[in-house]
Amino acid sequence: MQNVLKRYFGFSTFRPLQEEIISKILERRDVVVLMPTGGGKSLCYQVPALMMEGTAVVVSPLLSLMKDQVEGLRANGIPAAALNSLNDEAENVRVRAACMRGELKLLYISPERLVLEIPYLIRDMKVSLFAVDEAHCISQWGHDFRPEYAQLGVLRQTFPEVPIVALTATADRLTREDIQKLLGLSDPAVFISSFDRPNLSLEVKRGYQKKEKDRAILALIARHRDDCGIIYCMSKKTTESVAEMLRDHDVQAVAYHAGLSAEERERAQDDFIHDRVQVVCATVAFGMGIDKSNVRFVVHYNLPKSIESFYQEIGRAGRDGLPSETVLFYSLGDLVQLSRFAQESGQREINMQKLRRMQEYAESDVCRRRILLNYFGEHTDCDCGNCDVCKNPPQRFDGTVLAQKALSAIARASQQASLRVVVDILRGSFSPEVLKGHYEALKTFGVGRDVPGRDWQDYLMQMLQNGLFEIAYEEGNHLKLTEAGWQVLREGRRVQLAVVRREEKQPQRRGRKVARPAEPVLRFPERERAAATAEAPRRQALFEALRALRKQLADAQGFPPYIVMSDRVLQSLCEACPTTVEEFGMVSGIGDFKKQKYGKDFVEVIRRFV
Ligand code: ADP
Ligand code: ZN
Repeated sequence: MQNVLKRYFGFSTFRPLQEEIISKILERRDVVVLMPTGGGKSLCYQVPALMMEGTAVVVSPLLSLMKDQVEGLRANGIPAAALNSLNDEAENVRVRAACMRGELKLLYISPERLVLEIPYLIRDMKVSLFAVDEAHCISQWGHDFRPEYAQLGVLRQTFPEVPIVALTATADRLTREDIQKLLGLSDPAVFISSFDRPNLSLEVKRGYQKKEKDRAILALIARHRDDCGIIYCMSKKTTESVAEMLRDHDVQAVAYHAGLSAEERERAQDDFIHDRVQVVCATVAFGMGIDKSNVRFVVHYNLPKSIESFYQEIGRAGRDGLPSETVLFYSLGDLVQLSRFAQESGQREINMQKLRRMQEYAESDVCRRRILLNYFGEHTDCDCGNCDVCKNPPQRFDGTVLAQKALSAIARASQQASLRVVVDILRGSFSPEVLKGHYEALKTFGVGRDVPGRDWQDYLMQMLQNGLFEIAYEEGNHLKLTEAGWQVLREGRRVQLAVVRREEKQPQRRGRKVARPAEPVLRFPERERAAATAEAPRRQALFEALRALRKQLADAQGFPPYIVMSDRVLQSLCEACPTTVEEFGMVSGIGDFKKQKYGKDFVEVIRRFV
């Protein structure tokens, strides 16, 4: 097992659970694997595929993902191919012939194709194991049901002896039970790994207006000058306008949404995968089937509708395990709109419930990771240290007077004003809505002039969270005082509020932080001292040179750069500075094949720096 891992993939240690899972498969047991995105599911069936006799058949729902996996395997010198509708017939004939001759270690196939091919092909070849990727697609409970998956029960019936490995990143119990039942697995070994992704930082920015969001995004991108990221937006229009804003600031950005033609979408996705554009501004339509390991940031321009979607989307950052940033912008406007969608949807109760949990996350003043993990049924006793609450705990003050001003404005507007109008009243703005309601005549008009509008937004959101008023979604989103709100207003009940976080600093260009990979770093002794004293700029220059070489090698072969080598491997190269091909082969992530193929080129560049 260890040898295969090192020789083909260049890793020296297994991640948690991988070894146990592989052992079970080698014992020919059925296995269910639940691991978060980026957890390392693929190796769990790829290593046994290489060790067992015959060909492993991998069922995968997404053509682009198949292509990626096959390219990745071939780039490691592993014979693999895909049978699907992207191939022309000649290619399919070749692949079939190779299967019959037993030349392939892995065959990727779409579910509908598999069902068709069973009688002909599969019986004529030796199947080592079946891996069903994205296995949650079989369940109607999940968020991604695919009818083609429903037929996969035939696998167990047709091949009683061949182990089946079902893999998914969707964790809930009902989905898991469906997978077991519908695939007909016999007493499977179930492995559930932690859903924690400690390399993703978590941050929520509350109550930002458009301009502030733009500024914050530009600052984020300035910190990630050469890194790719995704910005998720609620509407098609927003994806377009954010992409345009970025292009106006010389950031290569494209929009991606269901309103584009298939070709346009494909081009956007392809440009992103090949590092030709830096940022994709997308609706939730984007991301399934993108296996890009070096996405360094994910921004939610709007509030997502559930924690499941949120976690899946941020999970597309940092698959290579390196530090990556996630930012969520949370505004009351989004909450109101999503509530309306949920109210009008078929599953009103469930969707409102999901939204409420999302809201709790966004408004939390305890460690955000704990909330996420808790949602997925994992409990931890310690704070993560990598979310905005941990890094910058909220400071509280006695906000009773502020709250009274706001509550009084709500009450005096006869509880007929929306949040925006209440802010207008407090700030003393003569907005059309204010004039229409004659609110300029109220005693509270302008009493909160000294507090910026954005801070009022924030305080009001906190007051909402504290249950001092409610939003009547069915009634023009008017604010209505609750019993607790009246107590504050009439009886002076005390209110604690959190200090509003100050604005973003102006965007500054910072050097790339070279983070230390979690796996042990190898460094060749004679260069220990040089590395220790090597200043950051030098290291940065080396990284850039290696990155450029990677791009050149990738373009020459028509691969995405991360297929040649992940960011993480580039960083390990910067740390280890191998100057011979032998040393190059010892770096984590370099298997025998890549050592032979790329060693000379990389070593040559590194030598210039050492
Ligand atoms: P998943 O399918 O669970 O989303 P992948 O199989 O794509 O995750 O793996 C994510 C990343 O982790 C890949 O870049 C892979 O090379 C890396 N990886 C997997 N297993 C190991 C390991 N044992 N050591 C180091 N890196 C690993
Ligand atoms: Zn935390």
